[in-house]
Amino acid sequence: MKALLEQYREVTPPGTVDFLRQLGRRVEGKQMLHVNSTRYGGGVAEILHRLLPLMEELGVKTRWEVLTGTDLFYRTTKSFHNALQGMPQQITRDMYDSYLQVNRDNAKSLNLEADVAMIHDPQPAPLIDARPKDAKWIWRCHIDVATPQRAVWQFLRPFVVRYDAAICSLPKFAQRLPIPQFLVYPSIDPLSDKNRELAPEEISRTVEGLGVPLDKPILLQVSRFDWFKDPVGVVEAYRMVKKSHDCRLVLAGGTATDDPEGAEVLLAVQKAAGIDPDVHLLVLPPTANLEINALQRAATIVFQKSTREGFGLTVAEALWKGKPVIGGQTGGIMVQIIPGMTGYTVNSAEGAAFYAKRLLNNPNLIATIGRQAKEYARERFLITRHLQDYLGLMVHLCR
Ligand code: UDP
Repeated sequence: MKALLEQYREVTPPGTVDFLRQLGRRVEGKQMLHVNSTRYGGGVAEILHRLLPLMEELGVKTRWEVLTGTDLFYRTTKSFHNALQGMPQQITRDMYDSYLQVNRDNAKSLNLEADVAMIHDPQPAPLIDARPKDAKWIWRCHIDVATPQRAVWQFLRPFVVRYDAAICSLPKFAQRLPIPQFLVYPSIDPLSDKNRELAPEEISRTVEGLGVPLDKPILLQVSRFDWFKDPVGVVEAYRMVKKSHDCRLVLAGGTATDDPEGAEVLLAVQKAAGIDPDVHLLVLPPTANLEINALQRAATIVFQKSTREGFGLTVAEALWKGKPVIGGQTGGIMVQIIPGMTGYTVNSAEGAAFYAKRLLNNPNLIATIGRQAKEYARERFLITRHLQDYLGLMVHLCR
C-alpha cells in the first residue's frame, strides 16, 4: 500500500506532493492541536478526519480535542451560529454564562499543549484564556460572518483579538481585527468515496439503483432541502428547459425527521414537481457518499441555485467531476464559478434555464467547460491545497 500522501500525486497539480513534503520538513516534529465541538457530522469534522493523517505523515504531531458541553451550551452556540450568520436571536444572560462556564471546564479537562493550536468556530473561542506560554493560537472561522448580529460579535471579539491569527473562508467574511487574518478556502478530498473516480459500470449501477434511468441528459442539484438552496427555483428552471430539451431533473438531498423546515421544503418541492416521471426527488441518508458521487458523475449539468451560500462544497464536488455548474450569484459560489469558464452564475430560474439550454444546445461547450472546471478545482479546491495553506501558516507562525 502506497503512503497516504503519495496517493494524491496522480490527482493533484504537478509538484504538490513534493512541495508539501518540503513544507512539512519546516515544521517536522512540531505539535499541532485542533479543537472543535464535534467529532462527527458537519464539514469541519469531515475535513479534520481527512487532514489529520496527512499532517501526521508529514511529521507534524497532530491531536484533535473535542469540547464537551451541556444542552444549554449547544443551544447557545447554535444561537451564536445563527446570529453570526445574520439571523436575529435572543440570547439570555444564562446562555452567555453557560458558554463561558463550559469553556472554563474544558480548559481544565482538555490537553491544550501544542506548538500551534487551531480553534475552530465560536464554540471553543474562550479557550484562549488557557493558551500555554509560547504557543501560537489560530481562530479558524468556518461560518459566514459577513453581517453578524453585532451584540454577539462584540461578545466574541475580545476573545478573538487575543489569538495570533484568524482564518476565514471568504474575503467578505473578514472582520476589522488587530490580528493578522488569512483566507483559506474549504476543500474536498479527491480520494474520498464522495469524490474518487468511479468506473462507468459503478456509476450506472448506482444511479439506476436509485431509480434514475440514464436515457437522457440529467440536470442535478445535490443539497439539503433548505429554502436557501432554492430547490423550487430549480424545478421552475427545469420546466423551462424541458419545453425544448428532453431531460431529467434529479434533486438529491437529505432531511432529518427532526427538522420541520426540511420536511416543509421537501413538500413544497414535491408540489412544484407534480406528477412528472422525469423529476426524481431523492431523500438520501447522510452516508450516501457513493450515491452522490455517482449522481454528480452521471449528470450533464449541475445546478446550485442557492440564494445564500457559505462556500458551497457541492459546487467544488461537481467541478471536480468535470461538470459545468449553474449556480446562484452568492457567497462562495462566486469564487468557484467563473462565468463562461467553469459554469454560469444566475439570479433567477429564467437565467438558470437560459444557460442550461445554451449548454444542452452545444455539447462541445459542455465538454470544454467541464474540462476547465476540473482543472480549476484541481488547482484551488482540493484537500492538498488546504494542507499547504495550513502548513504555510504554521511555518509563518513558528518562525
Ligand atoms: N450532502 C450530502 N447529502 C445530502 C446533501 C448534501 O452528503 O443529502 C453533502 C454535499 O455533497 C456536500 C455537503 O453535504 O459535501 C454540503 O455542503 P455545502 O457547503 O454545499 O452546503 P451546506 O449543506 O453546508 O449548506
